[in-house]
Amino acid sequence: MPTKRRILIIEDEKDLILGLTDAFTFEGFEVSSADTGEKGIELAEKINPDLVVLDLMLPGKNGFQVCQELRAKDQMAPILILSARSQENDIIRGLEAGADDYVTKPFSFGELLARVRTIFRRVDAAKQRVSSTVSVGDAQVDLDTHNALVRGEQVDLGFYATAILQLLDERRGEPVSRDEILDVVWGMDANPTNRTVDNFIMKLRRKLEEDPAQPRHILTVYGQGYKLV
Ligand code: CA
Repeated sequence: MPTKRRILIIEDEKDLILGLTDAFTFEGFEVSSADTGEKGIELAEKINPDLVVLDLMLPGKNGFQVCQELRAKDQMAPILILSARSQENDIIRGLEAGADDYVTKPFSFGELLARVRTIFRRVDAAKQRVSSTVSVGDAQVDLDTHNALVRGEQVDLGFYATAILQLLDERRGEPVSRDEILDVVWGMDANPTNRTVDNFIMKLRRKLEEDPAQPRHILTVYGQGYKLV
């Protein structure tokens, strides 16, 4: 029997914790939960989860702070944000704080499960890849650790942003459409929207471009998609 993947849920809605715990357990995961950010951070250090499902709106430390602290404590497990607010700003902020993906409430368990499975597929694929890097201007991105060295600073990009960059790099110089990015990076079952791709592109620009408002490497090709030059 392979060891079960361990999911840590940090969420303050009791019903949601119960529902998610049952559903993930039924799907064969080992589930732990915490109802505050503080407890979640403590628990993460104890159990070393394979994935964290994190609510943004928490009493005490909010999800953004929890995200940053987990990353600061070298917890590299993918973080999937649950956001009750569909405002782009919160999502972008969450992604910048170190989250890997997000689902907006209300969501179906099927949707969440598809996202979680996609993340684990990417984790497994990354383990099999020989180490390599992609350069974006003078920044170096490590495809295995998802870390970028940007003007002397280490920056965490997360799985999805790194996966998008890898795809753009494979086709460097030519535009890649949002549909194709969704298809290759998320797969058919996870169901994110074109807007999701735009959010991750924004994240990449903010982290890698010297002037994110005037990108010189991660470019929009109007009507066609994005390209890396
Ligand atoms: Ca909440």
